[in-house]
Amino acid sequence: MVPRFISGKFVANLYSHENFVAVPWLLVATLFLYLADVKTKILPGITHWQSPTFYAYYPSNSSVAGFLGEMLSAGLGIVGFSWVTSPAATELEMIVLDWLAKLLNLPEQFLSKGNGGGVIQGSASEAILVVMIGAREKVLRRVGKNALGKLVVYSSDQTHSALQKACQIAGIHPENCRVLKADSSTNYALRPELLQEAVSKDIEAGLIPFFLCGNVGTTSSTAVDPLAALGKIAKSNEIWFHVDAAYAGSACICPEYRQYIDGVETADSFNMNAHKWFLTNFDCSLLWVKDQYVLTEALSTNPEFLKNKASQANLVVDYKDWQIPLGRRFRSLKLWMVLRLYGAETLKSYIRNHIKLAKDLEQLVSQDPNFEVVTPRIFSLVCFRILPVDNDEKECNNRNRNLLEAVNSSGKLFLSHTALSGKIVLRCAIGAPLTEERHVKETWKVIQEEASRLLGK
Ligand code: PLP
Repeated sequence: MVPRFISGKFVANLYSHENFVAVPWLLVATLFLYLADVKTKILPGITHWQSPTFYAYYPSNSSVAGFLGEMLSAGLGIVGFSWVTSPAATELEMIVLDWLAKLLNLPEQFLSKGNGGGVIQGSASEAILVVMIGAREKVLRRVGKNALGKLVVYSSDQTHSALQKACQIAGIHPENCRVLKADSSTNYALRPELLQEAVSKDIEAGLIPFFLCGNVGTTSSTAVDPLAALGKIAKSNEIWFHVDAAYAGSACICPEYRQYIDGVETADSFNMNAHKWFLTNFDCSLLWVKDQYVLTEALSTNPEFLKNKASQANLVVDYKDWQIPLGRRFRSLKLWMVLRLYGAETLKSYIRNHIKLAKDLEQLVSQDPNFEVVTPRIFSLVCFRILPVDNDEKECNNRNRNLLEAVNSSGKLFLSHTALSGKIVLRCAIGAPLTEERHVKETWKVIQEEASRLLGK
């Protein structure tokens, strides 16, 4: 009988050379025993994010390369907070973030050769938080430590709630968070004149504008803010400009989609999640800053127990000072593996294929008189709904909620929803590595069938 719990001592005894034949068999048997439990007790409670018909939220890609990198990282088991704790981990992270910055055609200032550079965070939320804390310290040095209550943050109402959380943690007064309305007239992009108006009003009131979050690919509908115009306003008012491209940043490696980050030259920081749509297993959120010292001046600590020659001599990057935690995993290995194994061209066709599938779905939706595409598709997210009958928007919202419930309960696919201008909208975010044309066609069939049932047709 294979023991369910194996004590450390037992394992040590097993590994003694007398047992070298028995060990592999015992471990394989244990694994099988546990896999049986995984199959019967755990898998039934799993939401299958890697399923070809998972379309909810945004994708969270995993891949063979990502998995191999993750496995190597787990095997090495390093904790690379300072350069000296595993020099290759820091160096590789700098190299792959430079590679990707070049692939995205980010401005030179984001590269590690000057004051800038990239760092891997666990999430886009952490990325926003660290840059906000850096920006907060920078502005408080300029205007005085007591001015925290006067600092103002700007964004559109389509910005991810990660910004609100960052404000809460960074101590920004809730009344100083300007959530500017974006509507269907701009496809939910922030209007620069609204920002300008809000900034001028705040300055007049004696407040201090200090942080702007622009979006490339909002969570609800992939709206893209006009970065260049927003950045110009930010620059002339000494406001830190962060660009959140958590999902859509990946698409911008394709020359034809690079236009959506035009204006990023005006940003102070830029973020994209490689763990969303870039074949890199969760978690791997990429953040670039033009001035690394804004982060390190806000986040550095230097306790005796971490002192070492390389850090003291200021010769190296210590990523612990670019993030909230001390410890950090060797995440760059999986991104390196993805870039090495697949290469830029494969990654571009991977993205293009999903966008093509989304285009096909958009067309299917627009051909059905019961449905509408609510906002034009830009990347691989299609936002749609059943149309109202007799202009009854309330009933229409209920019907769309019911449709979501019905298609998800079928167990055949998984969509999520949002609200745009008060309309309940279904979101179909295509981006799982296994999704093919046949899955999208079948998905649309399921949606149409459930809709017909709800409409009594
Ligand atoms: N920003 C955007 C545009 C997102 O879509 C998301 C999550 O989907 C986030 C930020 C937050 O991402 P994370 O889970 O990495 O904090």
